[in-house]
Amino acid sequence: MGLKMPKAYSDKLKRDITVEEAVKESIKEDIFCTSKECRIPLTLVGAFMRNSSLVSAHFKRRGREEHKNCDYNTLGQINIAARDSEGALASINAKKYSLRLNLISKAIKNSDSSKKKESTDVDIDNTKQPTKNYISSGKISAYLATMKKIMQIKSKIENEKELRSLIEIQFNDNNIKWSDFYFEFDDYEKCFSKLMNNKLDYPICIEGEIKNFERATENFSYHTIKLKLKFLGENEDGKNKFASVSIWISDENIFEKLKKDFESGKNHVAFCSNMWASRVDRTSEFLNITGKVYNMKQIYMY
Ligand SMILES: [Zn+2]
Repeated sequence: MGLKMPKAYSDKLKRDITVEEAVKESIKEDIFCTSKECRIPLTLVGAFMRNSSLVSAHFKRRGREEHKNCDYNTLGQINIAARDSEGALASINAKKYSLRLNLISKAIKNSDSSKKKESTDVDIDNTKQPTKNYISSGKISAYLATMKKIMQIKSKIENEKELRSLIEIQFNDNNIKWSDFYFEFDDYEKCFSKLMNNKLDYPICIEGEIKNFERATENFSYHTIKLKLKFLGENEDGKNKFASVSIWISDENIFEKLKKDFESGKNHVAFCSNMWASRVDRTSEFLNITGKVYNMKQIYMY
């Protein structure tokens, strides 16, 4: 198990090298994990296409030996996320965790700033009158941080099977399949259909490449991040059909921060929200998927 690594330790050069350097100089031998405690042998993987998106060059484990005490150990990363998760990622046994989407769903709802005042009042009154919807902001933060960590791990992982074997996803006592929880570029149309049929009534994650940032206008009060359109061919009327994912953000600071990250070169994003679908049929047909981001911890840029 392991995550894709951007750096490796070269035994020949006695220093860490970047993946760009390894590609350029075609260094494929005698490279190891950058962590001194780990140093398992690595190999260089050149860039390749997967699901119509480019997987950039990276290092991965040469053999089957697991990373030890280092940041690239997937299970280790999940252990850390679980420890800090306030129960959102609960251990089933030493090698299996359950992600509780009910908690994530509530945390997202409570992050909605339009409701913030209300939840603060509830916080203060909590000792007298615990309400059904009460969760402290500390827990909200921990739940969403857990979600972000999972998106981060997912975006770096060599293959999804790994996560499937480590994390089980639960919502209202139902087990949710990974493929009904995390959607990549090639899954947009499937995601749209499931949303249209009300089959995804829990928070889901979508990842993709960012197309642009659009500021709120007089007529539209949300800032928007648009992801790259997925072309789906022609529809029955001969019009081009696209799947389109949008992230709506009302908080100016969050929008500005993300825009800065984008301008500094992070052009991929994964975000988690309760999403909805809508179809627009004009000169082209658009299958729109939209979700709101209220909190930085719902979104991960890379
Ligand atoms: Zn390692």
